[in-house]
Amino acid sequence: TSLFNHLETMPGDPIFGLMSLYAKDPAEKKASLTIGVYRDEEGKPWVLPTVKKVEKMIAEDVATNHEYLPMEGLQPFVESARDLLFGNPSASLTSRIGSLQTISGTGAVHLGARFLNDSLSPKRIWVSDPTWGNHHAIFDIAAPHVEQKMYPYYDAATCSLNFTGMMETLERDAQPGDLILLHACAHNPTGIDPTKEQWKQIADLCERKHLFPFFDSAYQGFASGDVDEDAWAVRHFVSRGTLELAVAQSFSKNFGLYGQRVGAFHIVAADEAARDKALSHLIYLQRAEISNPPVYGARIVAFILQNEELKREWEQDLLIMSGRIKTMRAALYGELKALQTPGSWEHIVNQNEVDLYEILEISRSATKTDIKKAYHKAARIHHPDKVPEDQRAAADDRFKDIQQ
Ligand code: PMP
Repeated sequence: TSLFNHLETMPGDPIFGLMSLYAKDPAEKKASLTIGVYRDEEGKPWVLPTVKKVEKMIAEDVATNHEYLPMEGLQPFVESARDLLFGNPSASLTSRIGSLQTISGTGAVHLGARFLNDSLSPKRIWVSDPTWGNHHAIFDIAAPHVEQKMYPYYDAATCSLNFTGMMETLERDAQPGDLILLHACAHNPTGIDPTKEQWKQIADLCERKHLFPFFDSAYQGFASGDVDEDAWAVRHFVSRGTLELAVAQSFSKNFGLYGQRVGAFHIVAADEAARDKALSHLIYLQRAEISNPPVYGARIVAFILQNEELKREWEQDLLIMSGRIKTMRAALYGELKALQTPGSWEHIVNQNEVDLYEILEISRSATKTDIKKAYHKAARIHHPDKVPEDQRAAADDRFKDIQQ
């Protein structure tokens, strides 16, 4: 007999369960549409070229060691993470932001949940219906007395955002002091984000109803290919100057550093004194929970973000990833149409700015080279300013006919 016999077996995470079934499936043409990890055309994990390059530099640097980091994390990393998210904040804004390194996005949501629970004693947290499944589990364990309420988000009939339902519910039922969890971009699992106009209305509502916004930013630069565009909502909320808020930030997807667990938690307080107090509590929690965050991945991210040239190279990697994702969506859409699959599938492409010319190009007979060309082109067309001049001219020339 065991003292643990009374325990009931917990259900496994459905997504990871699906992934192991997928791994066992012998089908040659299988494609995983489940977990949010990027794959190349061969279906293989992709180490970003910029990351690979920096790994070599770090390995060869004789000064590299494996000492503990400070509890707040690697300072150059924490500062670069903050600057990437908030868009090089002014000195006065910086003095209001408290940041520390976490065990990736999951750890940041966890630390934030526990900190907000302890410091604000909220009665409720509002999460979107649906949301990333782990949000529920994290709040269950880190803030067990905070009631989890869902606001309408996904309208299954139209496969789009139920903005009216969301706003009506929050307007009616949310109470001052409640937390509201918002996905900064690339909402998981729907992929549907509010428009800028809608974000402004959500910020109005948070102000008016005194809700505390907690952003989860797991896909900055990975969604649109543009780090500034994907941080728009967070920056808008901050720009109001009236809201205090928190952000959980992950570098798993945008740097492809999933297993290295690179992330940060940021608190934007009303003033420097409040920031300092909040940060001291966060560091206290950090000490008890993990002592010191892991160094390897943070070193890579800091190295890239602190070097203009490497940062530009990384932005190209982002364009390749986001471009390919868009193109794959277009290919899926094209195939569903070609097979005359019953139902409407526009939502697969609508939410992701995929233009008609991309869809036209990805036909059933597209070869790997065609697809590769198409996603490089998608990146160029969506973000022409980020493509080097010489490449741009060549690309424009090549794709002139399609763009007309
Ligand atoms: N938040 C959301 C919405 C996510 O989709 C993910 C990853 N699936 C995370 C947070 C956390 O990811 P990680 O812990 O790997 O940074």
